[in-house]
Amino acid sequence: MDIRLTADYHSHTRYSHGSGTIMDNAKAASQKGLEILAITDHAVRHPIVGVSPKKYDKMRKDLEEVQKNFDSLTLLLGIEANILGMAGDIDVKDDDMKKLDIVLAGYHLTSFPYKFSDYFKITWNALTKYTMKSTKGQIARNTTMFVNAIKRHKIDILTHPGFRLDIDYKEVGKVCADYGTYVELSSRHKTPDDKSIEQLLSTDCNFVINSDAHKPDNIASCDFALELVKKFDIPEERIANICGKKLDLRSKR
Ligand SMILES: [Zn+2]
Ligand SMILES: [Zn+2]
Repeated sequence: MDIRLTADYHSHTRYSHGSGTIMDNAKAASQKGLEILAITDHAVRHPIVGVSPKKYDKMRKDLEEVQKNFDSLTLLLGIEANILGMAGDIDVKDDDMKKLDIVLAGYHLTSFPYKFSDYFKITWNALTKYTMKSTKGQIARNTTMFVNAIKRHKIDILTHPGFRLDIDYKEVGKVCADYGTYVELSSRHKTPDDKSIEQLLSTDCNFVINSDAHKPDNIASCDFALELVKKFDIPEERIANICGKKLDLRSKR
């Protein structure tokens, strides 16, 4: 399969903790021949760097100014929301989502949950994952958090599943398929791993290849994901942003 990346739906700018501006990211995307680039900075609960919804209008204005310089590249304004606790809360309200073109969501250790009990149920496991094997109970709770988030919110892309927390990939893959949320193959975080991708492939979920670039040079750098596609022979029709294809965005339906 000749894989041509059409779009990169996950990039950060100085609005959160990326090193480039929207213009810098757009230039890089254009040079790499992308048709679509999403600007998806961290949402408000990301400590220090999270973007307040009050800034969405300013970002939109900036993005529209930059867009004027590009004919063959379309810029999308998005956000990478934080999934916060077992109830599946995210830190972007439905009304604020309407101001955005695309909504990504993922788990980040440093974005603390609203409920104190979730520190024991979720955060503790994220803190200890790399030194202590996750228990069945922990995996079940993590899975519940992801499943609830996908069911309750119109999340277009689940970012880097498996980063920081172990989950039941079959269950998460199934709910992503049922609700129309794409599963990210993340080159930045090197997720999902070999075992997890096999479980995801056994469901009907679809995938998106993203860079999660935090600097302009890394836009469209997706070597890990492309290797994964080859290694597991992931069918072209299950990858939503290659060979001229665009995502069918759940948040816009
Ligand atoms: Zn992330
Ligand atoms: Zn990110």
